[in-house]
Amino acid sequence: MLEERLKSVIRDIPDFPQPGIIFKDITPILKDQQLCSDIVDQLVAHLQGMEIDAIAGIESRGFLFGMLLANRLNIPFIPIRKQGKLPFKTISESYKLEYGQATIEVHEDAFAPGSKVLIHDDLLATGGTVVAASKLLEKLGADIVGYTFIISLDFLQSQGRLTRFTDRVISLVR
Ligand code: IMP
Repeated sequence: MLEERLKSVIRDIPDFPQPGIIFKDITPILKDQQLCSDIVDQLVAHLQGMEIDAIAGIESRGFLFGMLLANRLNIPFIPIRKQGKLPFKTISESYKLEYGQATIEVHEDAFAPGSKVLIHDDLLATGGTVVAASKLLEKLGADIVGYTFIISLDFLQSQGRLTRFTDRVISLVR
């Protein structure tokens, strides 16, 4: 089963990036080409029948499978980046972190208003990042039609924060 195969390679790194945090390291997945392609297959199977115009991926680990997925579905990829990284005209959205705040940006011409956009990231924790990404894309007229994650930390019960946008939330590992 894919979930078990993923669980067997995802590493827990204690005290990264700060003391007290257990970081889920997905980089061992990237060494296994078959596993990477099975991830994309599984995501595509979950999205069967959905109308999706573009995949938005969140810097930086959301780019890895977000781009592969968009390419497989033959639709555009939209990079959402941290403040100051995108070279063309951007719009931005700020959100609170446990300590301080973060700002993400997207190019204002990244997609056409009314596009059905699916947001992809590697991991769902509190949901703050994808909620901010959803608001950011909505400012440009996107219709958020779903979310995909490799991992969701269900004990944080953040999935409820996403239902105001859509209830299509897919995670390969819980
Ligand atoms: P959230 O905003 O609290 O849901 O945090 C999710 C964001 O933080 C995603 O962009 C993840 O890439 C990143 N993140 C948080 N914890 C981890 C982790 O344990 N492993 C990998 N990424 C993480």
